[in-house]
Amino acid sequence: MNRLLTKLILLLALSLVLLGGCGLLSSWESSSTAGDTTVVPLYDLCVYGEHALLWIEENDPEEYNGWLRQLTLYYQPPAEQEQAGAEQPDSQEVICGDQVNQGLCLYQLAAGSYTFATADQLISVDEDFIALEGYTLPRDGIRQHWTFSGQEGLLTLTIEEVSTLPAGYYDIFIDVGHGGTDTGAVSDGYVEAEENLRSASYMAKLLEQRGFKVTLSRDDMSIAGGMEAEDNPYLAGARVDSLYRSGASYLISNHLNSGGGSGFQIYTSVLADNTWAEAVAEQFVSLDWYADNSNSGLIGNGMYKRWTNDNHHTGRDYYFILRETGGYALAPYRYKVYNDEMKAQLRRGAEGILLEYLFLDNRSDMVFWDLHYRELVEAAVNSCCSYWQAGEY
Ligand SMILES: [Zn+2]
Repeated sequence: MNRLLTKLILLLALSLVLLGGCGLLSSWESSSTAGDTTVVPLYDLCVYGEHALLWIEENDPEEYNGWLRQLTLYYQPPAEQEQAGAEQPDSQEVICGDQVNQGLCLYQLAAGSYTFATADQLISVDEDFIALEGYTLPRDGIRQHWTFSGQEGLLTLTIEEVSTLPAGYYDIFIDVGHGGTDTGAVSDGYVEAEENLRSASYMAKLLEQRGFKVTLSRDDMSIAGGMEAEDNPYLAGARVDSLYRSGASYLISNHLNSGGGSGFQIYTSVLADNTWAEAVAEQFVSLDWYADNSNSGLIGNGMYKRWTNDNHHTGRDYYFILRETGGYALAPYRYKVYNDEMKAQLRRGAEGILLEYLFLDNRSDMVFWDLHYRELVEAAVNSCCSYWQAGEY
């Protein structure tokens, strides 16, 4: 008797789930044929680091933050979980923030597939929508392979768990400042391009120990892309292009400063919040290293955001390595001039940070560097992992 009752309850629950699913599908199908307004076409989509931003209206060039703030996600668990009867929420409200690193957080989504709605309108895509895919960082050894595609006319995000990245894909791109004939700052026998290689190589080693797949813009004193790439980092094979092809979610640019200051400076995108920079600054200060607050664009102790000089409202970063590697979210404008065929890939970019550990032309800074550069790099890696909520064993 008890068993029969259980069966009946299960059957009732299953039919409710099925009815719910059909209801969603049929309301969309009937409304689209009736020309109703319950679907809204996606205008654009981009992923910055591990956060997705969705637009249903054309980007206003004056306001680069016109993405949707309120999203409803409809969730379908993977087929094998459905059979096992795993309980999963079928819809979820997500509020995105005003900064490019506050979009839909991809690594927080469970494996399965998702469709989207905003203000009760399902978000649709045309047949010519080009799928966009990537991978999140490993967390507890698992990466999420995310793919935005069009399925039955609706924007669909599928998340599947994988343990390794395909060949050619990386988690983190480490930019080693300068190289080739570009020495960067030179003073008292120190050459910035060499010191950057020293810090970046150590950084790569530490990140790999924490389970990340890492690539560097260079691993010796020459630069990828040769002489031409020194003048033009956007050419195929040069550092900006290498980043897009690496599929990396994050960029860390390693530099030493010059020009008469002392201490560290940290730069993040003008369109991102300050959380990442704060995490690094806090760790540097805990080593008794201190901030240099002498540059323009200061927004906190040792932390900076620098806009291009031309127009404050175009949402563009002054430093090309942040601006041009961030994908559409950061409004890059040089890279696509040279790599027209990479337009689709530009819908995703890396979230970046630029570290000026200290001043190469300051004698006492360099004494500190020789004694403590490893600790500075360790502090940077620790704070990155804590910001990413990844890589902590
Ligand atoms: Zn530099």
